[in-house]
Amino acid sequence: SVQEPTYKRVMLKISGEALMGPQGYGLHPPTVERIANEVKSVRDMGVEICMVIGGGNIFRGLAGSAQGMERTTADYMGMLATVMNALAMQSSLEEIGVFTRVISAIRMDEVAEPYIRRRAVRHLEKKRVCIFAAGTGNPYFTTDTAATLRANEMACEAIFKGTKVDGVYDKDPMKHDDAKRYDTVTYDEVLAKHLNVMDASAIALARDNRKPIIVFSLDEPGGFRGILSGQGTYTKVQ
Ligand code: UDP
Repeated sequence: SVQEPTYKRVMLKISGEALMGPQGYGLHPPTVERIANEVKSVRDMGVEICMVIGGGNIFRGLAGSAQGMERTTADYMGMLATVMNALAMQSSLEEIGVFTRVISAIRMDEVAEPYIRRRAVRHLEKKRVCIFAAGTGNPYFTTDTAATLRANEMACEAIFKGTKVDGVYDKDPMKHDDAKRYDTVTYDEVLAKHLNVMDASAIALARDNRKPIIVFSLDEPGGFRGILSGQGTYTKVQ
């Protein structure tokens, strides 16, 4: 995998859990800062960056509804959790000199910009990092689907999914020593084999719009930048 991905505009999707660090819940500022630095190093290459951050470190709609909450309300709470994560990331990015906009799918004008597609595109052209918050704005969706939707709308060339492992494996590499990593895998194979990449609606939306998904490890220092310079290990879903 030498010399391949050199993209000009990308979507970076991370889960909320990526921000909780060792504490197991909520936001861990040093971890947010570490990821912000990874983003900066790619921004410094001139790559235009969109981001979607999940909310699972704070609240997931499905968990709330499993405990008896009404599902749509629980989902709105999950979407609000993603706004908190987006603000934390914005703060960390601006601390290190990276101009950033938080763009919310649910209007809250005092806190974040509303989503207006052309305005967001303009921010990207001006090399501002755009963090798309509040998911798609709709219950029953996930931030994986939001990331794919915005990647399509913003004409990103690829979706980078930062995880704890360096790609997609045929079984859980944390549990099985003989788990094998795919270099490439098709969308249909991911769906048929229930491989752990993103949820099925997000995979289908990426497939139908031919957006490659690059699954890579966010724990590898310099990993994000490395892949954009044609190095490192990852799985490309295509
Ligand atoms: N959510 C939603 N619609 C969306 C995106 C997210 O209702 O378009 C809610 C949903 O309840 C979800 C929560 O927000 O559980 C947090 O998002 P997600 O679970 O995708 O976060 P992650 O697992 O990536 O941290």
